[in-house]
Amino acid sequence: MTNMFKGLLALALTLGVTAGAQAQAQSETLLTDVTIVDVAGGTLAPGQSVLIRDGLIAEVGVDVTSASATRLDGAGGYLIPGLWDSHVHIFSSPSEPDTALPLYLINGITGVRDMGALWPIAEQRALEAGIEEGEVLGPRVILAGAWVDARPGSWPGMFLADTPEEARGVVDRIAAEGWATVKAYSMLDEATYLALAAAAHDVGLPFVGHIPERVALGTAIDAGQDGMEHFGRVAMACSTAEDAMLDALRTAMAEGAERGRLFEIMAARNRIILETWDAALCETMLDRMVDARMHVSPTLVVADFYTGNWPAPDAPRMRMIPAEVREAWGRPDFRLEAMTDEVRALAQDSIALDRRTFLMAHAAGVPILASSDASFANPYLFHGFSLLDELDLYVTIGLTPREALYTATVAPARFFGLADQDGTIAPGRRADLVVLGANPLESLSTLRDPQMVIAGGRVLDRAALDGLETTLLERGQ
Ligand SMILES: [Zn+2]
Repeated sequence: MTNMFKGLLALALTLGVTAGAQAQAQSETLLTDVTIVDVAGGTLAPGQSVLIRDGLIAEVGVDVTSASATRLDGAGGYLIPGLWDSHVHIFSSPSEPDTALPLYLINGITGVRDMGALWPIAEQRALEAGIEEGEVLGPRVILAGAWVDARPGSWPGMFLADTPEEARGVVDRIAAEGWATVKAYSMLDEATYLALAAAAHDVGLPFVGHIPERVALGTAIDAGQDGMEHFGRVAMACSTAEDAMLDALRTAMAEGAERGRLFEIMAARNRIILETWDAALCETMLDRMVDARMHVSPTLVVADFYTGNWPAPDAPRMRMIPAEVREAWGRPDFRLEAMTDEVRALAQDSIALDRRTFLMAHAAGVPILASSDASFANPYLFHGFSLLDELDLYVTIGLTPREALYTATVAPARFFGLADQDGTIAPGRRADLVVLGANPLESLSTLRDPQMVIAGGRVLDRAALDGLETTLLERGQ
């Protein structure tokens, strides 16, 4: 067992949740007096009871009883499926899960998809197994961080491929190691990218990730990319100059231009997109995404980092993360330093255009997976809290609260193809549930204060959630 698992176990044991949680997962729990929220249908079913057995929902109804079950009073609360954050990084430092896992549970998030990791896969899988077996308290984790980039790689430890042959070899390794997806990254060339897509599909793995900087969105759609991370490339594909922008970069890279020059070319894209964004072209592109069932993980909340919309140093979310992470976030950042004056000046216009495009995508029927990009390596993006910020943003932009909830419950469970989860609360589904004090279909603000969180059948009542918060605040000093 590595140090990080000892840390997690110590945290869980301090709170007395692990032992009890394990016992609960093996026995029966009867949650009574809740209003079940059907996120897909938008309907409410009051006065329900839910029987949980061995981590799964066994029965749901108005007159469900059990003589042997531990009874939990839902006190008239609203029951929703636990939330998913479909784009996070919890393995960017040795101790990151110690903070990340409780932060997710505190915020009602019972599932996360990790999209890029600096830990060896064996250690990631050990943590995943620890959670599944009830030894470690945390959300369900999907290990989707097998990211593939051109040499030298944008992050340490990536899979690297510069030719179609290398791409096929890399996919074989990814499949053998048991990752959930193949993730494309930004600097791949088009031939290598296309080989990667074909190889991923050949071995039966979803192909997700960035649209590489030299590849058109339409090419990615035709290649059958199943999921795209981040939203900026959608707005770029709505520009009549998408091809010209891609060509400028391709030419510069082929000529061996220096890094600084490449950044200049990419930075110039924001202005060009604002000048050449075309609504009719956009509708066509979005329809193609819909037809291809290409899912998008927007991570719109990332804009807050670039615009300096950061929480105060004494905000609770800041105090719940380790002091050394806060210090690292306060230091100069390579991404902020790469911004040109022009990009800074146009930031609000670019964000507004992204949001307009996002609303069009939603209206067209592009499937959306709520995502935050939370990571210790991404300053001011917080495990847990940032996913709720992202959902609030969707509502601000024009989605209803139900539509926003759908992107964090029904849509991810279906996209991941999980046998025991589909965003409904019904027999046979995994008992990942959240009890809320008010109706979330009226306002998502109730997500900020869950009354109870149930993760894989393990019950955390409000006192247990408060205990997690207190522990994190003490450790964050
Ligand atoms: Zn990311």
